[in-house]
Amino acid sequence: MKEQDEKYLLDSIRAIKDFPKEGIIFRDITTLLNNKEAFTFLMDHLVEKYQNTKLDYIVGIESRGFIFGAALSARLKLPFVPIRKPGKLPSKCLQESYSLEYGSDTIEIHTDAFNNQKANVLLIDDLIATGGTALAAVKLIEKLNAKCIEACFLIELKDLDGAKELAQLTSVYSILKV
Ligand code: AMP
Repeated sequence: MKEQDEKYLLDSIRAIKDFPKEGIIFRDITTLLNNKEAFTFLMDHLVEKYQNTKLDYIVGIESRGFIFGAALSARLKLPFVPIRKPGKLPSKCLQESYSLEYGSDTIEIHTDAFNNQKANVLLIDDLIATGGTALAAVKLIEKLNAKCIEACFLIELKDLDGAKELAQLTSVYSILKV
């Protein structure tokens, strides 16, 4: 992506200091979603990037990964699989625990999410910080015998080494590095 396009997208995302706790600069993507030109620009970029990739599923991480992941899966005519916080998915699940930039958590996926196929999967989330969430998500995908072709993020926090660590497991694409 061209530098001026990166700037355009970055300017559409609001930075909120000390949310949800002191010391965190929260990247608020609701302002991008609220801007139809910016949201369309982002989705057009992702469609162009992935339309010729052999993908079977798009997997989004709760909750902002659902927004971009589901929008992209509709545009690429691919099925969408949610990875959720514990206790949200109603059928049989696999679980993986991980640590966050703020706190710790567990994520789950339905065991039949990929219909027992050796599926090629694109993983999407809004932001990679420590990489704990995405790493756990890739582990869940692999435990179901699917292959994570790439993990895609709108924002990478480059001061944290999350993306580097994740790159040992899968290819990583971050649109904006801040
Ligand atoms: P991590 O597991 O540390 O890579 O954290 C990634 C997850 O936490 C993503 O789902 C993000 O939505 C959320 N997150 C972590 N840090 C931030 C931040 N500074 N701004 C917005 N979301 C964040």
